[in-house]
Amino acid sequence: MRFADVIAHKRDGQALTRDEIDLFVRGVVDGSVPDYQASALLMAIVLRGMDDQETWFLTDAMVRSGERVNLSDLPGIKVGKHSTGGVGDKVSIMLAPVAAACGVVVPKMSGRGLGHTGGTLDKLESIPGYRVDLTIDEFKAVLRDVGTSIIGQTASLAPADKKLYALRDVTSTVESVPLIASSVMSKKLAEGSNAVLLDVKCGDGAFMKTVDQARALAQAMVTIGRLGGIPTEAFVTEMDAPLGNSIGNTLEMIECFDTLKGTGPAELKSVVTRLAARMVILAGLEHDAQIAASRVEDAFTTGRALQTLSRMIERQGGNPRVVDDYRLMPSAPDRAIVAAPRSGFVTRMAAMAIGRAAHVLGAGRSKVGEPVDHGVGAVTLGHVGDPVREGQPLIELHHRGGRGLDEALTLSRSAIVIDDRPATARAKILDEVR
Ligand code: URA
Repeated sequence: MRFADVIAHKRDGQALTRDEIDLFVRGVVDGSVPDYQASALLMAIVLRGMDDQETWFLTDAMVRSGERVNLSDLPGIKVGKHSTGGVGDKVSIMLAPVAAACGVVVPKMSGRGLGHTGGTLDKLESIPGYRVDLTIDEFKAVLRDVGTSIIGQTASLAPADKKLYALRDVTSTVESVPLIASSVMSKKLAEGSNAVLLDVKCGDGAFMKTVDQARALAQAMVTIGRLGGIPTEAFVTEMDAPLGNSIGNTLEMIECFDTLKGTGPAELKSVVTRLAARMVILAGLEHDAQIAASRVEDAFTTGRALQTLSRMIERQGGNPRVVDDYRLMPSAPDRAIVAAPRSGFVTRMAAMAIGRAAHVLGAGRSKVGEPVDHGVGAVTLGHVGDPVREGQPLIELHHRGGRGLDEALTLSRSAIVIDDRPATARAKILDEVR
């Protein structure tokens, strides 16, 4: 089989066979399919799409390209979680310990931020000493003792996805339902979970801009889960505005600790509570949504969720005192305020522009492997629906000596829209797909 013929089949709108997809994935990993041919096929997939069967073949081939973690010697149903990425999206850092404090085992292999979105690993690395590079044996030991462990994806897990994702990032082929669905689910299937909960972000700051697109992605991933024999459910959640108030690594960790202590933004706690309650149900610990939610509330109010996070930090080499002494994490020395340009009502706080503002201050990276500045970022002081007076502070930028500040100020100003008439923010949870 010539690889050029495989590209031609997809270019002409045909469904690819399992053999053709296996040839592609094997060739990407062993180098026999050069980047220019892989890129041509990726673009053909973006333009022509893939049906459920092809998407499953692609996912399965990517899982088989590497190792599959075996967690069967750990008791209980292991429930994984994945977000498609957003701005201020710190949900995993709270959700994993909250669910673990309810008795769910939560193995979590996370990624780093790229572009305007933040990454869970970068946020956790704001904690001095925190190791994301545990061996699989260390990962399992933390899971056994604490109930959750958040680490980086090991090199041996779905290596085809790693190569393809890097290629997609530079060939404008990220935004495709079958490519995103197979990329996410190959990692979840290789991670060793028995069930998966997905958070598909939707809106200005997400890959999926409309609810219909997000629902299609959620549906594609739930179907892959079913074909892979792993119960999978998805929430579609709003990402027009940043989630919570803080964007940036240390700033987001502080907001996580505050939320677990009951002093964080209510919207953040309510998203974590809904998702955690669903994880309790997926783990078979409860059947009723109300009872599961009260179990989750108990994990917050008794402080068990915060203790679980603190134990995970300690077991992974981090200083657990950060949960009470935020000065132990890096912070930025300088502040700049973006004020309301006029009086009225806030009708928009655009996640993409605010995420990019934090990024140019140094919170994110433009190339894989670049260092990030854990201390910088942005805090939103006003929200959609708020009445404001001209000159009222709406965004506080945390910067280091003015690095990236001019651009961050321009981006932040462009994020804010104020109108004479009030607007209501969309609900944070837009849909559920089971
Ligand atoms: N997250 C992933 O892991 N893969 C994608 O393709 C997009 C978001």
